[in-house]
Amino acid sequence: MTPYTRGLHEIADGVWAWLQPDGGWGWSNAGLVAGQGASLLVDTLFDLALTGEMLAAMKPVTDAHPITDAVNTHGNGDHCFGNALLDAAVRIHGAPEVAERAHHESPEVISALLALDFGPLLNDYARRAFGPFAFDGVPLRTPDTPVLAATTLDVGGRQVRLLPLGPAHTAGDVAVHVPEVNVLFSGDLLFVGGTPLMWTGPARSWIDACEAMIALEPEVIVPGHGPVTTVEGVREVQAYLRHVGDRAREAHAAGKTWEQAAFEMDLDRFARLPLAERVVVTTYAEYRHLDPALPEANQLELFGLMARWESERNG
Ligand SMILES: [Zn+2]
Repeated sequence: MTPYTRGLHEIADGVWAWLQPDGGWGWSNAGLVAGQGASLLVDTLFDLALTGEMLAAMKPVTDAHPITDAVNTHGNGDHCFGNALLDAAVRIHGAPEVAERAHHESPEVISALLALDFGPLLNDYARRAFGPFAFDGVPLRTPDTPVLAATTLDVGGRQVRLLPLGPAHTAGDVAVHVPEVNVLFSGDLLFVGGTPLMWTGPARSWIDACEAMIALEPEVIVPGHGPVTTVEGVREVQAYLRHVGDRAREAHAAGKTWEQAAFEMDLDRFARLPLAERVVVTTYAEYRHLDPALPEANQLELFGLMARWESERNG
């Protein structure tokens, strides 16, 4: 079993995971698949320093097998803000929605969230979530090679499958499968040991995405956040989405607002997961599918409500 320690871990022949405990806000995982004379990077990290450190640690591999391709599994900054450090010749693959989301939640937007006065509750939450990262002057580089359907890449003679499985966590989630060694990089379709977060959904669609990952029968799975896992980790995310999706739909049918649904929800055993307050965003996203007329909530509103949820539950 791969230890959950910071850094590079070889998880199969010529396949590495870059792990960043504790897997909370911004602490994402990434990966490297090396072929003959070419490599594929799975995701960059939240800022340039973290990405630079990872690329330096990969150098013993990439000196012989340079990175020719990269994939952004989706458009959250902790999976793509480091793209600017890649050589200009590297092809960056990603769903078309990656660029849209990365611009919407750009480094400047997160910088502003940290700098402005939103009251002590949100300021404290934002500082705990995003304070450890450096967003000033991060040039945004987004994918240049759209992933519109399942695609096979040849990476120095190795076959790598890019599988669009969204909308689920976001509108454009792509998983990366290396069939020859049966390794799957799920991006944020999987959070292990922490609370899943649904920006887009609906839950049904994400549950289906989990089913598609299980059907690949992967032996080793690198989640977007948390320790390396197996299909058991996929089933656990499915169970969470079933629980929260069902409770949200029940609350909606009972005439409750999405805020009531989120604040009153019994999370059962999932209440023990770190960042349980993410249920605010997931409930909101599920309600948007139940009630398309629901006004759009902005990120500040959602983060403010997560901060309140956390303080109410944890006292
Ligand atoms: Zn992430």
